[in-house]
Amino acid sequence: MIKFLDLQKVNLLHQEEIEKRLLETFRSGWYLFGEQVKQFEDSLCNYTGSKHAIGTANGLDALRLIIKAYTELGVMQHGDEIIVPANTYIASILAITDNNLIPVPIEPDADTFNINIGLIEEKITSRTKGIMIVHLYGQAVFSEKLKAIAEKHNLKIIEDNAQAIGAQWNGIKTGNLGDAAGFSFYPGKNLGAIGDAGAVTTNDDELAKTIRALANYGSHQKYVNHYKGLNSRLDEMQSAVLNVKLPYLDNENQRRREIARYYTQNIKNSAIILPKVPEDENSHVWHLYIIRCKERDRLQKYLTDSGIQTLIHYPIPPHRQEAYKEMNELNLPITEAIHNEVLSLPVSPVLTDEEVKHITAALNNFK
Ligand SMILES: *Cc1c(COP(=O)(O)O)cnc(C)c1O
Repeated sequence: MIKFLDLQKVNLLHQEEIEKRLLETFRSGWYLFGEQVKQFEDSLCNYTGSKHAIGTANGLDALRLIIKAYTELGVMQHGDEIIVPANTYIASILAITDNNLIPVPIEPDADTFNINIGLIEEKITSRTKGIMIVHLYGQAVFSEKLKAIAEKHNLKIIEDNAQAIGAQWNGIKTGNLGDAAGFSFYPGKNLGAIGDAGAVTTNDDELAKTIRALANYGSHQKYVNHYKGLNSRLDEMQSAVLNVKLPYLDNENQRRREIARYYTQNIKNSAIILPKVPEDENSHVWHLYIIRCKERDRLQKYLTDSGIQTLIHYPIPPHRQEAYKEMNELNLPITEAIHNEVLSLPVSPVLTDEEVKHITAALNNFK
């Protein structure tokens, strides 16, 4: 069976270095707020070009903390609205509603699966305070027009960069395009820890300071609490792993591009729609390679029978979830079609050329 993502193989690529760094960290006796997290935050600043990076416990917390900080700073208030792509992962929406703000879902562009920037302005009301862009499946979404809309209406641009670390728009890295960004280092992400991990990046000094306090019980100084905060830390062991893996990320993203290019050039089946490859190859890090098929479920079963594991990202859109009854009646036909037709092929950097060829041949033989 070709696994969708062989995490053991992904991490064993760096086995010696990771084990050495973990052992050193374990033996140091220092497990939180130490050298490893500091090094990782500095490296993430260097990597993205952002002024600040703050480690968090996971990606959802990174996004929650950004909105919580804007609320504490008076930039956003309970009941305000944030525009968000309708076809995102649930975490983007949870980060908004957890802070008692209202998500306003927007349909994607069917070619890129990313938010259709042309549909944003008509949804802006006097209560709109932000736009959460999601660089979905690893592809950067940004434009001068988006920036102009945000400036005109005084909206914060929050990036959900859980899937696209390393992607660029016009030479600028995702995570440094908007006002603040949330990253996830969940094990299956392009840069994965060996447990939960996340981070926020921003160029805003005050926001960074507020997030750092909020993630630490609302405290800048031990036992002095400015805010009703939470506990959301990136620990030393996870940081140790991330410090080893970050220098290899660009190479691994390049291998994903190579596999994506191979699929795009060689999968030829009229029943399958391939993802559109962007002109600027740096804008996509192929966290996921998504094909569309009207008979998606039959195709998935056929691939399983051919020894190929695939996944669906995602089977149910957020507005159709039981948790979001208030959105269940929304009419979002593109989002719904996407969720019924998408299938994610393996695209991880540890796939061999032979496996990629086998997957391609199987797809070409699907009738
Ligand atoms: C993974 C993911 C998150 C959440 O990250 P966690 O670390 O799992 O909390 C948020 N948004 C998107 C788009 C994701 O893919």
